Amino acid sequence: MTSRVATAISIPFTEWVDANAERFIERLKEAVAIPSISGDSARRDDVFNMAHWLDGQLKSLGVDTKLVDLGTQNVDGKEIPLPPALLGQIGDFTSEAGKKKKTILIYGHFDVQPASKSDGWDSDPFVLTTVGDKLVGRGSTDDKGPILGWLNVLQYHHDNQKELPVNLKFCFEGMEESGSEGLDDLIVKEAKGYFAGVDYVCISDNYWLNDRTPVLTYGLRGLCYFSVTVSGPAWDLHSGVFGGTVYEPMTDLVTLLSKLVDNKGKILIPGVVDRVPSVTSEEIKLYEKLDYSIADIDKAVGAPIALSSDKVEVLMGRMRNPSLSLHGIEGAFSGEGAKTVIPAKVSGKFSIRLVPDQDPKEINKLVKVYLESEFAKLNSKSKLEVKPLSDGKPWVADYKNPNYEAARVATLLVYGKEPDFTREGGSIPVTLTFSDALGVNVLLLPMGRGDDGAHSTNEKLNRSNFIEGTKLLGLYLYEIGASINIDPKY
Ligand SMILES: [Zn+2]
Repeated sequence: MTSRVATAISIPFTEWVDANAERFIERLKEAVAIPSISGDSARRDDVFNMAHWLDGQLKSLGVDTKLVDLGTQNVDGKEIPLPPALLGQIGDFTSEAGKKKKTILIYGHFDVQPASKSDGWDSDPFVLTTVGDKLVGRGSTDDKGPILGWLNVLQYHHDNQKELPVNLKFCFEGMEESGSEGLDDLIVKEAKGYFAGVDYVCISDNYWLNDRTPVLTYGLRGLCYFSVTVSGPAWDLHSGVFGGTVYEPMTDLVTLLSKLVDNKGKILIPGVVDRVPSVTSEEIKLYEKLDYSIADIDKAVGAPIALSSDKVEVLMGRMRNPSLSLHGIEGAFSGEGAKTVIPAKVSGKFSIRLVPDQDPKEINKLVKVYLESEFAKLNSKSKLEVKPLSDGKPWVADYKNPNYEAARVATLLVYGKEPDFTREGGSIPVTLTFSDALGVNVLLLPMGRGDDGAHSTNEKLNRSNFIEGTKLLGLYLYEIGASINIDPKY
């Protein structure tokens, strides 16, 4: 399993990474200190600052970069500028020897989810804080740590004047946490332009299943997100005056929401699960093999609330079955006290995670028809509006492709064990865009652990994952270079 080429090069590289760990953590600290929250328009300048910071880093490492204007975004009726996408390339794209090298396109995002101390963080979310082996801070694992992992790899080649084993292109964006606005068009437009000649794509923006075993991810669920609005009176009413005299929108809405999914997670909308293939015995064996237990779920969610005590059932629930979650009600009274309002208009928000071969367009239609027919049964005088807010298709890749094989060998070299091959419950829509627009294999090669808390309070990246993850990204590139073209005997 050990590769002559990778071993020969890996010893100095991995040793150098260990020797430079503190310097890398300092750089992560700098990145985390920029609160690049894409979902908060008041922080838009910080997302721009982050783009420029990253641009400067890449330039200093010899990457040829450009910031691409993605236009504007409408926020509450106001047009505000979208943060630029950051494209870059480094390598030899012109000589005969250079052209023989494989070209890998790296994707990452430099925006983060909102965070403030008052949400329940133990420390300032924008000050990278070391707690034991953990590096705590917003963006540490999602997705600044992994992006900086690539910078660390570049740093080795830059500082030691080493040639890269592959050619690299970069596509970094600052709107991932807000629907990647503007990026799809850019990828499609540049598929035969800036991204021409790309052999493989690598994305490090998801997580291990647990805190022990590295994974390679070859599938993602898709998503259909809905808003269902019920409106009645022209304004909010007082329940002491009008309770018992009018149809109340909230009552209708809660009734409708209760008809979408049962408390065991079973989707109740007719037709929605029809296209989901039934599970094969080969597939069940794959899930049985994964290093995962019910205790891992309990730990990840902080309570013993798994839907089943059967590991395979729970894994299938997360990876290969669709699910429906209720997220919230807009317009309803929330907060302290006992306000006796009858809200005039309320919108329920829910979404369905999709798997192959579910099609978002078809699901949108099924959901709309179902909610309208259920609403008709209520004989209410209120009004109903069902609106799909966003959607994304599910994705599955060929995990026997050389791109995955390189990552598998690199994992074995760095962690001393085989990775688990997983499908992820969430969606990274850009994955599908790259796969469709470029027509090449896409690999999801996560750096962080399942308990990193990517979108929650006290988000962290283990120091060991940052450092070993840096080695993993580097050796993955060497394996691609070694196994495919540098040494044909390998
Ligand atoms: Zn992310």
